[in-house]
Amino acid sequence: MVAKILDGKKIAEGIKEKIAGEISGWKKKPGLATVLVGDNPASKVYVSMKNVACKKYGFYSREIHLPESISQKQLLEKVAELNKDDAIHGILVQLPLPPQIDENAILSAIKPEKDVDGFHPESLGKLIQGNPSFVPCTPRGVIHLIKSTGEKLEGKHAVIIGRSNIVGKPTAILLLQENCTVTVCHSRTTNLAEEVKKADIIVAAVGKPKLVTKEMVKQGAVVIDVGTTKLADGRLCGDVDFEGVKEKASWITPVPGGVGPMTIAMLLQNTFEAAKRIEKTG
Ligand code: NAP
Repeated sequence: MVAKILDGKKIAEGIKEKIAGEISGWKKKPGLATVLVGDNPASKVYVSMKNVACKKYGFYSREIHLPESISQKQLLEKVAELNKDDAIHGILVQLPLPPQIDENAILSAIKPEKDVDGFHPESLGKLIQGNPSFVPCTPRGVIHLIKSTGEKLEGKHAVIIGRSNIVGKPTAILLLQENCTVTVCHSRTTNLAEEVKKADIIVAAVGKPKLVTKEMVKQGAVVIDVGTTKLADGRLCGDVDFEGVKEKASWITPVPGGVGPMTIAMLLQNTFEAAKRIEKTG
């Protein structure tokens, strides 16, 4: 079997075009504020891609760049200012933050109505209750990709590798809500290959190039690669050995061009939904 490619770039394009069409008649555009602290090169790239997408698809975007040395109090003040700003419907504070800042304190300070990244405790609590307000963008994109295969999810065994609050854990919750049987693996899992071999659906979210090899994959599995690691030659590499695994999987996402574009599309979707709720439009 040679896997079909889950083309995240194309699927994301469709989602963004659809939103752009819906907001084209709006007088007040959905507004996203991105807050970047410091000069982490990867964070700078992510924030810039988010702002470029906003502008291209008819959103208002405001890029706020703050110095690495900013205090927690100053950052909280900036968030409070954005919470009150009527032009802003969504606030995204790019992670990671410098060590003097308590990330949870900042994420908790974002008004839940504007929490388009979905990391506020209220958003995560509602997600667990099965009554989500904002679903974190990458996990939302992962589920969208899996559903776009047309395969039935109910009863499938999903194995997620990685248990971060921003990818692994929310993805596990969403797959449970789709009635999958879910296994979550992490760095202390003693038998990773054995666990992954049982999976009908594999979601790899680790950040270790080519961790998932052909030998670990069951014939016909759907394989979603969230991992992105920049190699010494500048290329991006996923957590899955794409060339080997595509010979066994039924569907597979490439890196780049799989989950990454979906994350941005879902950020626009969440901001669009935030604007509709706040402005009571549509
Ligand atoms: P993270 O917070 O560093 O979490 C990594 C997870 O992988 C942890 O749960 C860790 O386990 C687990 N892990 C580490 N080594 C392992 C191993 N050998 N076997 C099994 N599990 C292992 O990372 P993250 O923020 O979730 O991101 C994961 C990857 O996705 C990164 O490459 C990141 O760049 C990428 N990412 C991509 C997008 C996108 O839009 N494409 C968005 C977000 C993240 P412990 O919990 O035990 O430490």
